[in-house]
Amino acid sequence: MLSIQNLHAAYGKVDVLHGISLDVPKGKLVTLIGSNGAGKTTTMRAISGMIKPRSGRVQLDGRDIAGLDSHRIARAGLAHSPEGRRVFATMSVTDNLLLGAFARFTRARPKGDIARDLERALELFPRLKERRTQLAGTLSGGEQQMLAMARAVMLNPEVVLLDEPSMGLAPILVDEVFRIIARLKAEGVTMLLVEQFAQAALNVADYGYVLENGRIAVHGAAESLRNDPKVVAAYLGGG
Ligand code: ATP
Repeated sequence: MLSIQNLHAAYGKVDVLHGISLDVPKGKLVTLIGSNGAGKTTTMRAISGMIKPRSGRVQLDGRDIAGLDSHRIARAGLAHSPEGRRVFATMSVTDNLLLGAFARFTRARPKGDIARDLERALELFPRLKERRTQLAGTLSGGEQQMLAMARAVMLNPEVVLLDEPSMGLAPILVDEVFRIIARLKAEGVTMLLVEQFAQAALNVADYGYVLENGRIAVHGAAESLRNDPKVVAAYLGGG
């Protein structure tokens, strides 16, 4: 579904990604973990076109998308829910979600039933349902983060990139975000997840990649990474 080969990226003269290769098969949840500054967010940005990769291949459903503009990549079926809270503050929750669906009209795929998908998104995120008419800018930080996730899902994409959906959330909301991710997975949504909470990410994922200084250090089935002594010592707070 999503396949990345030998991806290099830089900010100015500073190389950050030194040849990343990873695969996100259809219907699978793959997680990318690693310490602060390892290059996780940069990998997501390079995939979704927010920055141009220096070299390497990014394929979505067999189609080369590396170097395309981000709106064209979104049209090709890749939704990126970026780190932080990117919502349209002066629009209601419902209108933010409908805007997520808007991009479908520029795609050659079946449009589906937007009203039904809006209901589904609101069922998935009950906190948003209660606040569907509220202006997005007046939501709490955690609620805005959920709205950004819900909007990515409304695109009905082939693949969703989730960059730290739990960032800055109270523990109870972190649990809710992971429950939602598990539900999306059960519905067959293909996802690449970047998370600080490596343990929680590996609990819900099928497969994991560990990024160190812009390179993939280890990868494997999520269960084998959870039991890998080096991964446990470095990322899962064990010894
Ligand atoms: P974190 O877990 O802290 O979010 P990360 O693994 O997502 O970290 P990145 O945000 O991808 O890491 O950053 C990788 C490196 O690139 C860091 O050294 C960072 O300082 C640098 N970097 C990130 N964004 C920029 C930018 N816009 N300009 C210059 N350097 C940047």
